[in-house]
Amino acid sequence: ASQEYRNFPMVPRVVYGKGSFNTLGDILMSKRKHSEAPMIYLVDDVFENTDLLNRIPKIFCDQIILISAEDEPKTQQVDALVSMLKENYNELPSGIIGIGGGTLLDLAKAVAIMLTNKGGAAEYQGWDLVKKQPIYHVGIPTISGTGAEVSRTTVLMGPEKKLGINSDYTTFDQVLLDPDLTVGVPKEQWFYTGMDCFIHCVESLNGTFLNAFSKSYGEKSLELCKEVFLEDIDESESREKLMMASWHGGMSIAYSQVGVAHAMSYGLGYVLGVKHGIGNCLVFQFLEEFYPEGVVLFNNMLKKHKIVLPKGVCSNLTESEMDTMITVALGMEPLWENALGENWKSIITAQKLKAIYQKI
Ligand code: NAD
Ligand code: ZN
Repeated sequence: ASQEYRNFPMVPRVVYGKGSFNTLGDILMSKRKHSEAPMIYLVDDVFENTDLLNRIPKIFCDQIILISAEDEPKTQQVDALVSMLKENYNELPSGIIGIGGGTLLDLAKAVAIMLTNKGGAAEYQGWDLVKKQPIYHVGIPTISGTGAEVSRTTVLMGPEKKLGINSDYTTFDQVLLDPDLTVGVPKEQWFYTGMDCFIHCVESLNGTFLNAFSKSYGEKSLELCKEVFLEDIDESESREKLMMASWHGGMSIAYSQVGVAHAMSYGLGYVLGVKHGIGNCLVFQFLEEFYPEGVVLFNNMLKKHKIVLPKGVCSNLTESEMDTMITVALGMEPLWENALGENWKSIITAQKLKAIYQKI
């Protein structure tokens, strides 16, 4: 029964609204242990030399660490950040604040966990392996779609696998949603990360794990995605709506699962380093067999925004790379079970996956 009735954490505090970033100083003040226990801001380096850095409420021995989102987060990167913080300070930080997209949000979650848990981050990739309460951690998204701001996972590339640290301790203690922070996102990136949200909805709503809890969030998120990507709405309104779509999409999969596109995108990510958002899009376009209505909507969205997906991504793979990709994808068992039901192994085969990958 404990499997059936899972007791999920939710983000206990959230601030919403344009300009709400200005409340960060007050929010953090009450969480400062003392002047020697800093707030550590992990910030996407796309904000280097921008006004956002000046608006960060840095006092005492707080530190801003700029990090590139070029590569998705790695377990070694988390371990290195943790060692550095332990070396530079006598005290554990008062808080870790992630400012950026899914990459920075996931790094902040993982660093907060690894500051209080022994060993390396790779030891905690999996489900419910975290033992100790992490450092207070705050998520501030600057691009919308992943749902990383609400989820109980932090997806890391490890030495052996790309897998999340899924735990009750992973979820942020505080999230700040300020739609104005997403103003400078480049169009294609906006689309790819936004489609991550759209695909979360489609996979959740068409999955066998669906229940009224997930459905209520998934339907709301899908409705918002359609407004954002298929209608002509004001840009500022669009930013607000996509931020909330991401939140609801993330909530929808909390009590269900993602599906075929995510399983296969993990394979692309592991072997070719293809990033999550674009990887999902590359796969999803060829999934009409599994998500017929979703793929029609997706193609309309591509067309409306004149997005041209890259071609030939898998054309130079060796046999063994292709095999690894298929193995990684098939390893995501809960995703397949959600997508296709208990008998998924009789429906999806390595051959079938290969045929799809070859089209990409
Ligand atoms: P990202 O964080 O990798 O950022 C994508 C690009 O957008 C980067 O170049 C970044 O610098 C840029 N960017 C971000 N904000 C910007 C802004 N305001 N202005 C200009 N540029 C900006 O992208 P993402 O799609 O948000 O995140 C992908 C990551 O999220 C992957 O690592 C994936 O595994 C992870 N993910 C996590 C979860 C979860 O639940 N934890 C869910 C889905 C995806
Ligand atoms: Zn996703």
